[in-house]
Order: sequence, then structure tokens, then C-alpha cells
Amino acid sequence: MTLFYKPIDAFKLIEAIDLDQPLIVEWLQSKGLIPKEKKCPKCYKNMKFIKRPDSIDGFAWRCSTDSKRCSLRDGTFLENFRCDLKTFLKVIHYWALQVRQADQKEILQIERQTLITYQHQELLN
Ligand SMILES: [Zn+2]
Repeated sequence: MTLFYKPIDAFKLIEAIDLDQPLIVEWLQSKGLIPKEKKCPKCYKNMKFIKRPDSIDGFAWRCSTDSKRCSLRDGTFLENFRCDLKTFLKVIHYWALQVRQADQKEILQIERQTLITYQHQELLN
């Protein structure tokens, strides 16, 4: 890791994929995909952000009043994903690439159509 000269929120998605798990969590927090704080659904007090090695994200929320625990993903966009966070970032990344590929195809189709029109006119002349 030699990229620590810049703040975590300055990392691009493609760079974030290569980060270690705790930094990926921090990156997702900086992007607002995982909240930086959470209120306990039972007592509405602020929950603590704790390490939880047995969870897929390595962290969880815990209420110090009633020991209620929540996943980092509860109530977020990530809630329905079962994959680890690194895989999740890759999914977004490939999805983004696919959009770009579709755009490229669209451009290509326009070019092909232009080419066909050109050839057609050539035959007519
Ligand atoms: Zn609570």
C-alpha cells in the first residue's frame, strides 16, 4: 500500500477494490454507502462501531445499552447483497464497464449505419 498520501474519499472505485477490508469499509463510509453512525433500533441511542471478525464485513454496530447488534449493511443499499465488500465493489466496477461498452456499441452502430448509407449511395451513383 503506497497510496496513503491522499484521503480515503479521494480513492477511485478501481483503487478501492485493491484496499484491505477495513479501508474498503472506510471508503464505503466516505461515499455514504455505509453510514458513519447508527442509532440503535431498540433504544435510539448511538451505536458503537465495533470489530467483528466473524461477520462478512469484519465490523458491526453494537448498542452499549442493550447489547443489540446490527450488520453494517442494515438499512443500506448493500442490505440485499450477500457477497463480501471487495466482490461488491467489483460488481459495481464491471457494471460500470458494461454501461460504457453499451455506449461504445451504440456509437459503433451509428458508424456502421453511416457506412451502409455511404455504400448504398455509392451504388446508386
Ligand atoms: Zn440500544
